[in-house]
Amino acid sequence: MTGIARFRKIFRPGVLAFFCLAAFLGWAINACCLKIGYLRLVCPAGFLEIVAIRRSVPWRLVPGFVFVAFAIFFAGRAWCGWFCQASFISEKMNGVAKGKVPALCPSRKPHTALLTPGAGDAAAIMAGLFAGMLVFGFPLLCIFCPVGIVSRNIISFASSWCLRFDLALLALPVLLALFIDMRRVPLCPAGLTRALLSAPEKGMMPRTNPELCIGCGRCREACPSGLNPGMHADAAACVMCLHCIEACPAGAISLRAHCGRCKKGH
Ligand code: SF4
Ligand code: SF4
Repeated sequence: MTGIARFRKIFRPGVLAFFCLAAFLGWAINACCLKIGYLRLVCPAGFLEIVAIRRSVPWRLVPGFVFVAFAIFFAGRAWCGWFCQASFISEKMNGVAKGKVPALCPSRKPHTALLTPGAGDAAAIMAGLFAGMLVFGFPLLCIFCPVGIVSRNIISFASSWCLRFDLALLALPVLLALFIDMRRVPLCPAGLTRALLSAPEKGMMPRTNPELCIGCGRCREACPSGLNPGMHADAAACVMCLHCIEACPAGAISLRAHCGRCKKGH
């Protein structure tokens, strides 16, 4: 295991421990909002949900929403790669699926997942959730969001020493990850919002200098999102784990906001 991979392994439980501490200290207002001083950091998907259900803008949350949206635009899906516990579980389950899910279609290799949704499928799910939310006035995004489920249960445990029944809903994304390849397109509302915000590829992301690349393919082997960073690291799918940078023997990949000589998407 590489140094960055090892650090990531320690970092994620650290984030979970920090959120637990924040819940005990009363900083976590609800599943999608963290209060630090006067700033309320709010999940963009959660913010849009509140606006849609209340049919009004909670102005108190706007600075935190703008801050988080800008951070995602700049840092892409780093949240998914470094902070999100559900994404970690999904990564592991996809690894399990690689070896165990049988192929239904003869032309499909046995180690691939049964379904590999694209951006259109994910957008359709998101649109369906939003439509359901507008019709029923019910927070569907947050109810099924794995991040929301984990956060709600931590807050509940911190305030009343008991867990909620909705913890059982976590089984859904865990089981889905066995059959659906969610590495390139996240199906959770928070991950999808982050993918859409980082899709313009204007912020920081691994970029390859073609003059240095020797085409060895090690970056592709190292990428947990199934990308080929040597050719193009799609910002909507890249979780900024930095494994490709560490794996490249030629030092051809670097984390940059812009690179004149770097390879663009193809
Ligand atoms: S492209 Fe690089 S940083 Fe992005 S997910 Fe793949 S290995 Fe990680
Ligand atoms: S690991 Fe580096 S040298 Fe090898 S293909 Fe990827 S970018 Fe090119």
